[in-house]
Amino acid sequence: MSDTSVLTRAEAIERHQLLDVRSARLDLDLTRGPEVFGSTTVIRFGCATPGAGTFVDVKPAALHRVVLNGRDLDVSALAAGRFPLTGLAAENELTVEADMAYSHTGEGMHRFTDPADGEVYLYTQSFLDDGPRVFASFDQPDLKAEFTVAVTAPPQWTVVANSLGSQVAPGRWEFAPTARISSYLVSVVAGPLHSVRAEHDGIPLGLHCRRSLARELDAEAAELLEVTRQGFDHYHRIFRRRYPFDSYDQCFVPEFNAGAMENPGCVTLRDEFVFRSAVADTEREERAIVVVHEMAHMWFGDLVTMKWWDDLWLNESFAEFMAYTVTAESTRFGGAWTGFATKRKGWGYDADQRPSTHPVAPGAVDDTAQALQNFDGISYAKGAAALRQLVAWLGEEQFLAGVNDYFDRHAFGNATLDDLLAALAAAGGRDVHGWADRWLRTTGVDTLRLADGRVEHTSADGVLRPHLLSVGHYRRTAAGALEPAGRESLELAADGGGAELAGAELTLLNDTDLGYVKIRLDADSWATVRGSLGAIPEELARAVLWDSARDQVRDGELAPGAYLELVAAHLPGETSVHLVDGVLTFARDFVVDCAVPPADRPAALALLAEVSRALLRRTEGAPDDSGLRLVAARAVIATAGSEAQAAELGDWLAAGSVPGGPVLDPDLRWQLLLRLCVLGAAGEPAIAAELAADPSDTSEEGAARCRAALPDPAAKEAAWQALFHGELSNYLATATAKGLWQPEQAELLDDLTLRYFEDLAPAAARRGPALARVLTQSAFPVFAATERTVRAAEACLADPELTAATRRGLVDRLDTLRRAVRARELASPAGAGTAGE
Ligand SMILES: [Zn+2]
Repeated sequence: MSDTSVLTRAEAIERHQLLDVRSARLDLDLTRGPEVFGSTTVIRFGCATPGAGTFVDVKPAALHRVVLNGRDLDVSALAAGRFPLTGLAAENELTVEADMAYSHTGEGMHRFTDPADGEVYLYTQSFLDDGPRVFASFDQPDLKAEFTVAVTAPPQWTVVANSLGSQVAPGRWEFAPTARISSYLVSVVAGPLHSVRAEHDGIPLGLHCRRSLARELDAEAAELLEVTRQGFDHYHRIFRRRYPFDSYDQCFVPEFNAGAMENPGCVTLRDEFVFRSAVADTEREERAIVVVHEMAHMWFGDLVTMKWWDDLWLNESFAEFMAYTVTAESTRFGGAWTGFATKRKGWGYDADQRPSTHPVAPGAVDDTAQALQNFDGISYAKGAAALRQLVAWLGEEQFLAGVNDYFDRHAFGNATLDDLLAALAAAGGRDVHGWADRWLRTTGVDTLRLADGRVEHTSADGVLRPHLLSVGHYRRTAAGALEPAGRESLELAADGGGAELAGAELTLLNDTDLGYVKIRLDADSWATVRGSLGAIPEELARAVLWDSARDQVRDGELAPGAYLELVAAHLPGETSVHLVDGVLTFARDFVVDCAVPPADRPAALALLAEVSRALLRRTEGAPDDSGLRLVAARAVIATAGSEAQAAELGDWLAAGSVPGGPVLDPDLRWQLLLRLCVLGAAGEPAIAAELAADPSDTSEEGAARCRAALPDPAAKEAAWQALFHGELSNYLATATAKGLWQPEQAELLDDLTLRYFEDLAPAAARRGPALARVLTQSAFPVFAATERTVRAAEACLADPELTAATRRGLVDRLDTLRRAVRARELASPAGAGTAGE
């Protein structure tokens, strides 16, 4: 927010040298109405230099009282979220009493009224520097404390916090002191919750959600608890230390910005994970990955915490790497690494080729605002891929030995990258520091290009990384299929020497996707791929090839039409739901909506519609275990373009089912209605009727999306006002933004495209970082891929007053926009029109 300071690294270092926080008591009163809650904090702390001064972080709606060592201080001294403290004693007690404002952006104490039944739910998001919107603290990762939480709430509510607690009197909840944790990890969830309780290996487990999702949580509890148990068993097998906290609650909360947050003992997760509608198995897999990702943080992040935010990769890359490993090895989702290849890794590759890229482990992050921008594809996806390389290079046993030593040495404290490298080096005996300099301190993706049997190893900026990966060879059978003809391991030094390989009809670099690298095939292999991609037996190898085609399109090396030819030839027969979902998403979102010239778009969309229909025909009559048919049905809906197709969707909606299944559940109904609204085949009466039939938050978001998507100037203006000048919650803003821009309505949206760049900065500054992300991501008109839009975005970026979140969002979307413009230039006049012949 613009009215508060950001903490700088220098300030954090100084405050860490001065203070030793012993404990903090939080007392929250959640019975003061819909605007504010009461917050009293008592912090006990030592000071290394008696007489010195510092400040406590607090961002209240109204500050009532500050008492330091019995002295009442003048509350008007509060400025920009900091309260100055002077004349500290060797041992101090500080009391801060305030009213805090509820939030509707998922930052601080979020308040949500469930449209299904009018019940109110609250949860905190203290991360990254939003804790002081809930309680006063010395808010930096390396000032850990024992937190003791008490909450006054309406008597019929349940309150969950980091540690075990109970209702000691009607509406009064008290919790045991936590172990020493960082302030950004303090968590409270409250409301008339529905709870499922269990136990595993001596650890009390809880699942919680709002009451209107009770039936759905009961239906999902078995799988959620199974994954949780498998996660604990796996971590207890590989880590010497047991789970370090007293209980493990997973709270599914509404309008959550991230996937989940690793608060010790009180994880918060977005409550879309309590599925209200049918989902593909890939979505269940993604949920399992999030569950075990947060569990990994209990050790890596919560038990041992980064000293400062420049090492946030220590948290995220590690949790991400462990999550895919645990999911693939210990749950029923054995294909998790394919999900990493098709969904997650692209996030890292894309981020790493933008102007905003940064090293996995940046040398210095100067302040918290900058730190917040690093929660991106680099810190998660690239970091996890880099760790996967490290583990392969070092050996799993040595890696875990080092990690366990690191936990022992820094338990309940803080550590840095150097501490981890020292532990790994001691355990492994290889030059971990040299490896880290190459992989963690540099930016960019290497490219491996095969030509005449030679692997050429390059990168955009000339800095190379060492690689350890596999190479698959394939030969054609008499029947025309491809069969594996051997696999070899390839270790490339960072000296650019490359390597020699034996020839084959298809030689696929990185065929098991162990590497983090762009690959380019030789001409013969690429010709084989064009004809036979779908005939390659291994799912992961096909994923690597689709990834390569994807980044060739993004790099302007493969025409959008040529990509669509691959889709038309090889997707209708594809059996992997990972691949079908990933390819259709990219084909629709980037290729058809942005990269294909407008004149060719109808034909390109029709091609995708036909591919989707072919998948739907192929999956008719068989049990849909993986959700492939569901994914196909969603794609048929999203690609409908002709009048006949719109009429067919109307019939499905009336019948309540896609012929042959699936039955239309809330998500599918709203997707269908959205498409009808975009095409002008449905309007406000249908939206209102749908909302009345199921007055849930899903429906409110569906209605906001549909209303913004109507091809009508008044509807666009209403959406615009709500988005840029209103007070929409984070989720309703996202829904409105997603409805607003529709490539079919380019003419109607032309003026708004330029107006976007005028209204963005003030709206983003007014509403803070979470909404800035919505406004620069979901609300950015990337479909308008022209030089004019590029220039408008560049002009907007020249404004020196942009907030950090706005600037970062704009830089990233401008990169996608430029790539779309380049791809359009590459599209041959016949391009998409001839694809699929
Ligand atoms: Zn995480």
